[in-house]
Amino acid sequence: MKALVLERIHELSLREIDLPSVVGAKDVKIKVDTVGVCGSDVHYYTHGRIGPFVVNEPMVLGHEAAGTIVEVGTEVTSLKVGDRVCMEPGIPDLNSRASKLGLYNVDPSVVFWATPPVHGCLTPFVVHPAAFTFKLPDNVSFGEGAMVEPFAVGLQAAVKAKILPGDLAVVIGAGPIGIMVALAALAGGCSRVIIADLQPAKLAIAGRYAGVTPVNIKERALADVVAEATEGWGADIVFEASGSVHAYAGIFGLARPGGCLVLVGMPVAPVAIDVTTAAAKELRIETVFRYANVFDRALAMIASGKVDLKPLITQTYSFEDSVAAFDRAAEGRPDDVKLQIKL
Ligand code: ZN
Repeated sequence: MKALVLERIHELSLREIDLPSVVGAKDVKIKVDTVGVCGSDVHYYTHGRIGPFVVNEPMVLGHEAAGTIVEVGTEVTSLKVGDRVCMEPGIPDLNSRASKLGLYNVDPSVVFWATPPVHGCLTPFVVHPAAFTFKLPDNVSFGEGAMVEPFAVGLQAAVKAKILPGDLAVVIGAGPIGIMVALAALAGGCSRVIIADLQPAKLAIAGRYAGVTPVNIKERALADVVAEATEGWGADIVFEASGSVHAYAGIFGLARPGGCLVLVGMPVAPVAIDVTTAAAKELRIETVFRYANVFDRALAMIASGKVDLKPLITQTYSFEDSVAAFDRAAEGRPDDVKLQIKL
C-alpha cells in the first residue's frame, strides 16, 4: 500500500510499502480521510529520534487520524461499515498491570502509531482495534476528528489538574498543545487562562478565544501579569506546555499556595527545579504522558460546541503533497497551527 515513509532523517517518500492488512476479530478496517501533522512526526523527520525512540528503519508517519469504516471483525458490535470514526493511536496490552489500573497510556508494552518501530497511519487504509476507534457525531467533521488526538493531550492535562469551577490557570507555551491545554482548561471550568509565549503570531491565535489572555513574555514578565490578575495570590493551576528548559525558572512562583503545576511539555534536557519553593507552597505536581480514557470526552466536547477546534486547522494538503506538508511544518512558521493531510 502507498504510504508516507520516513526513510531516514531528512528523507521522506511517498511509496509502496507492506503494511498489516489482516482484520482480526476485534478489529476494524478504516479508509483514512484526514491525518494531522504532529510536532512529533516533524521531530522524527528533522532529528530522527525523540529521546529513546530512534528511527532505525523506514517508518510510516502520522498518528492523528479520522476516516470511515470499510470492514469490521467478526466480534465487533460497537461499530459498523460506513461509520465515520477517529482513532486513538496507542494500543496497550489490556491485560497489563498498567491497563488494569486504568493507566494504559503508561503501559510499557503500548504500541503507538509512528513511534519507532511502529508504522503510523499516513496511508489510505489502516486496521485498528475497535476498542480504540470512536464514532464521530454527525456534526463533527473528519478534520475535527483528526484534532481529537492532540486535544486529548490537553484534556488529559485538564483532568490531571482537577480543575474547580472558576479557577484561574496559566499556560506556558502557545503552540498547538498549549492552545489545546488552554481550551481544555476553559471547557473544564477555568474562568480565565493566561497564556504565555514569545511569538506574537501564536499569541494572536490563542487570544481569539474568549477567556484567553495572551501575554508576550518578551514584553512583560509573566510573574507580574499573574500577580496583577490574582492580587499577588498566584494562579490556581500552572500548565507547562512549552517543553522549554527556560520555562522552569520561577515557575513555582506563578502558582498560589496549595496550587497545582501540570507538566505537559517534554524538555530535551534535564531541568533543575526549586524544590524548596514548591514545598513551601505545598504545590501538587502532576505529569502528563499522552492520555487515557479521554477520547470520548474530547468528542463530546467538540460535538456540543464547548470547544471549537476548526480555527486551528490552518493548512490542508493532499496526500500527494504530503512531503511538501512536512517541509512546511518543519519550517515552524509561527502562524501555522495544525497542518492536515487529506487522503
Ligand atoms: Zn500528536
